[in-house]
Amino acid sequence: MIQFLKLLFRNRLAGLGAVVLTFILLLALLTPILPLPDPDITATGDRFMPPFSDGHLLGTDHLGRDLLSRLMWGTRLSLAVGAAAALIAAFIGSTIGIVAGFLSGRTDNVIMRLVDMLMAFPYILLALAIVAALGPGLINALIAVAAVNIPFFARNIRGVTVGLANKEFVDAARLSGMSNIQIILSEILPNVLPVIVIAMSTTVGWMILETAGLSFLGLGSQPPQADLGSMLGEARAALITSPHTSIVPGIMIFLIVMSINLLGDGVRDAIDPRLKSGALSRPLPATIVERKETPPVASDDLLALQDLRTEFHVGDRTYKAVGGVSLKVNKGECLGIIGESGSGKSVTALSVMGLVASPPGKIVGGAVSFQGNDLVGASYDELRELRGDRVAYIFQDPLSTLHPLYKVGDQLIEAMQAHRRMPQKEARARAIELLDSVRIPNAARRVDNYPHEMSGGMRQRVSIAMALANEPDVIIADEPTTALDVTVQAQILSLLDDLRRERDLAIVFITHDFGVVAQLCDRVAVMYAGRIVEEGPTAAILDDPQHPYTKRLMACVPELGGGKRELHAIAGLPPAVDRLPQGCAFAPRCEFAQDVCRQGEIKLEPNGDRAVRCLFPDKVSQTEVTS
Ligand code: ADP
Ligand code: MG
Repeated sequence: MIQFLKLLFRNRLAGLGAVVLTFILLLALLTPILPLPDPDITATGDRFMPPFSDGHLLGTDHLGRDLLSRLMWGTRLSLAVGAAAALIAAFIGSTIGIVAGFLSGRTDNVIMRLVDMLMAFPYILLALAIVAALGPGLINALIAVAAVNIPFFARNIRGVTVGLANKEFVDAARLSGMSNIQIILSEILPNVLPVIVIAMSTTVGWMILETAGLSFLGLGSQPPQADLGSMLGEARAALITSPHTSIVPGIMIFLIVMSINLLGDGVRDAIDPRLKSGALSRPLPATIVERKETPPVASDDLLALQDLRTEFHVGDRTYKAVGGVSLKVNKGECLGIIGESGSGKSVTALSVMGLVASPPGKIVGGAVSFQGNDLVGASYDELRELRGDRVAYIFQDPLSTLHPLYKVGDQLIEAMQAHRRMPQKEARARAIELLDSVRIPNAARRVDNYPHEMSGGMRQRVSIAMALANEPDVIIADEPTTALDVTVQAQILSLLDDLRRERDLAIVFITHDFGVVAQLCDRVAVMYAGRIVEEGPTAAILDDPQHPYTKRLMACVPELGGGKRELHAIAGLPPAVDRLPQGCAFAPRCEFAQDVCRQGEIKLEPNGDRAVRCLFPDKVSQTEVTS
């Protein structure tokens, strides 16, 4: 609840709406006990007194009645009628929607066609017709307003329910023997309730206006009873001579409807769990770059990162996800990046092509040189040219990277045509060829499959084919096999390895599994808390790890035929990158840590073709992992 209010008040306008509305509601509740004159007592001698007259703060109306008193009582009535109408419409409309959506088939058809018939009338006309048939009066106006809003709720809620009715948890409830009513109450209702609340919060204001409209026309509240609409209606004749009689109720209607709508929008945003992460805005097409100085780009390597720094600014916190990473990879080479979850591997990879979501992400330092050009300063157009064409990505979850509604062939074709003109026929032939090259059997038929018709391994092959579509120079694979089982993983790895040899590809392979690194990578960089802690040829590092973290990571990997070796988990947790400790980030979890490890900056010390960020590499290298 407190979190909800926090989110709500972060949206200033919604907070303002909440404050104004609470104030009005309080006044309406307190009206009966406030020392106000009777709102219906006429005093023809005191007609049209201006505001701030003696005894009449807001003046009087055409019959000499106290405007303040009428305003308060009228507001009370209008709010009550509007809220009642909204509740009735929401209750009946949602019931209809849930029943129709849940039962589906013919019941759904019949109910929804009836609702459609109601919707086919212009609804103000419909409301007028209902009041005309029932006779003027506040209760009848309420019924009319509620009735014309029922279809709105029914349609909305039915849509949501249809989506839910086929979900697995509903099937499970049915199998467990629950009746339809039980399922609706315990499974469906909790899921649609937020939608109902949101629909209500955005329509209450509207319904208050509609009731006021009917009263204005004389079809709602009857004299002498005051509501905001009838006050406006009665003041109409004196609009020019005594404008305050219309301005007073007018301002109140404005305040009520505005505050309800602002609050409604805020409530909708605050209930949506996706917004809780603070991602209130859509990310920009390229990561924001805020470098203090531009480092000289002097690299003959195909792709080289130089002291790259990427941060996330969330609220008043700064997460240093990538804290000065230097890496390089050349044609035909495979570079592994390994580290625990949260160590900054993905952010490093995404920074290369400016794909880190901004806001909150920002590249704050360093350079990415690709074929001698700095990509960090590059324009969006340059990046777009390169993305998917020269540098391609493969991500972890192929189901979320492939569009569910297009055939895989068409998605491959789109990837090619995004970068070069190509006749449809040729593109299709090439798509089949690509699927074939990633060893999808019967590619000519598979090309017309939808993603859901394929298995996870197949889908990941399609993603790889898509990455290959434009014959890139570099492929960045971000844990491409983590979602797959071990046999499929082995196939995908050997596929990538073959492709690298055949096409002289450079591969950056991100993983948390040393087994995978051993199989595929020439060099490996170990990341911890956003920095490289050890780097070098895979064989050398596997043979003799010199950073305690590397050593620990390797001890986590089971060996086939390795006998009954104990597997050692790494005690403790990786540090949060918004408050990194002084000195070595691994020190709190390290058995070798000394006082010097906790002070100052510890450099990545090169040593031949390897490098390690540790003060005591020899000691580490000579000690067995024990606990
Ligand atoms: P991994 O090594 O598992 O791929 P990531 O590169 O995804 O790790 O994340 C590295 C760090 O960046 C995480 O510890 C996280 O704190 C931070 N981070 C990533 N995305 C965001 C974000 N949108 N907002 C704030 N922090 C983020
Ligand atoms: Mg990741």
